[in-house]
Amino acid sequence: MSYKAYNNENLGFTTRQLHAGYNPAEHYRSKAVPVYQTAVFELGDYERCLRLFEYAEEGHSYVRFSNPTNQVLEKRISSLEGGSAAVTFSSGMAAISSTLLNLAHQGDEIIAVKTLYGGSTTLFQSLFPSYGITTRFVEDENDIESYRKLITDRTKAIYLECIGNPRINIIDIGEVSRLAHAYGIPVVIDNTFATPYLFRPFEHGADIACYSATKYLSGHGTVIAGIAVEKGDFPWLNGRFPEFDSFYKENVDLIGAEVLQREMFTKRLRMRYLTDLGGHMSPQTAFYVLQGMETLSLRMERHVKNAQAVAEFLSGHPRVLEVSYPGLSSSPYHALAEKYFPKGPGAMMAVRIRGGQPAALKVLERVEIFDYMVNVGDAKSLIVHPASSTHFGHTREEQQAAGVYEDTLRLSIGIEDAEDLIADLEQALK
Ligand SMILES: *Cc1c(COP(=O)(O)O)cnc(C)c1O
Repeated sequence: MSYKAYNNENLGFTTRQLHAGYNPAEHYRSKAVPVYQTAVFELGDYERCLRLFEYAEEGHSYVRFSNPTNQVLEKRISSLEGGSAAVTFSSGMAAISSTLLNLAHQGDEIIAVKTLYGGSTTLFQSLFPSYGITTRFVEDENDIESYRKLITDRTKAIYLECIGNPRINIIDIGEVSRLAHAYGIPVVIDNTFATPYLFRPFEHGADIACYSATKYLSGHGTVIAGIAVEKGDFPWLNGRFPEFDSFYKENVDLIGAEVLQREMFTKRLRMRYLTDLGGHMSPQTAFYVLQGMETLSLRMERHVKNAQAVAEFLSGHPRVLEVSYPGLSSSPYHALAEKYFPKGPGAMMAVRIRGGQPAALKVLERVEIFDYMVNVGDAKSLIVHPASSTHFGHTREEQQAAGVYEDTLRLSIGIEDAEDLIADLEQALK
């Protein structure tokens, strides 16, 4: 036997989601990825201890920094994404917050769009300012000049989502990336709603992808998990990032220039933020995420197929005011969906029900298959009323800027039989 599938980047996506990054021969030939349920690893000898702590040797010492189970997941997602390296976190928010803290320091600025996951908006608006990090929000995310006029010497990142939430909008990420790179600024994208199967951030100019692996990557809704992935060719020593200049100087002799060129962002993320803020994923969670990812492409295919069928049904229904789903030819984002999402623009949709909030709440109460929960990206279909949950506490203007009205329901379409989902919505709308 000459098993090599763990290390062959020419294999297809579905083959790699099962094999990439895990060589059984290095783990007593266990075919399932073992859970290294330990807090600490033996250091061996004094010299090895030094090398580990200087990051001059790959290996594990304390599980707040790294663990072999997590490492398989990091290698697997890097392979699927086409990136150089990844770091696993205890939640999507831990991945997002640590990623941005790795980029922006006191006095720095981030440019972000308004149609973001509620937790990210709160992070930018309420927490970061108290650490001296300012976020400047783009007025019109589909107008490139809106981004350009916010760029300053202190801009450290442009932050957006592959599919906006809950407006379910798509941004011309290629155009935004070209602008960002002209100024030496990296683009960070939250690719949770698409996963690397439906959308390829690095092929369209993004430099870092963040995930809530709680959602589609796992698909089973059993763990809270996050991942940050680095593409590997951003010029961090371009003069805009003094912290990366000093990080490079401190570490180049031990880690090596070649590794730092490809993995500067994730190395600093692990050595500073994982180590000092301590948001690492547990190995048990990494195991669950790996289990889910084995079927990622198959689930996503079914998700988008169902979403298209449900969206078409709803958009023809007399009780429905509006359906936001970029797979509909009536969507203002349809052209961008065809350009960036050739396999389908995900399975999230926002639906406005005729009759205002009372009518929307009635649908919410009557559905029998859809679960009423704030989660998204589960294999099971979910429904929520954003104005009273995910976007509760935001002002009316903030809500509407994000596409949330009192009659809006957000649906996360699962992988059930499409006929059942349509029949359920039909009886609830009645
Ligand atoms: C859920 C979610 C997050 C936050 O992830 P957690 O794992 O809940 O911390 C971030 N972004 C998007 C788009 C999400 O759906």
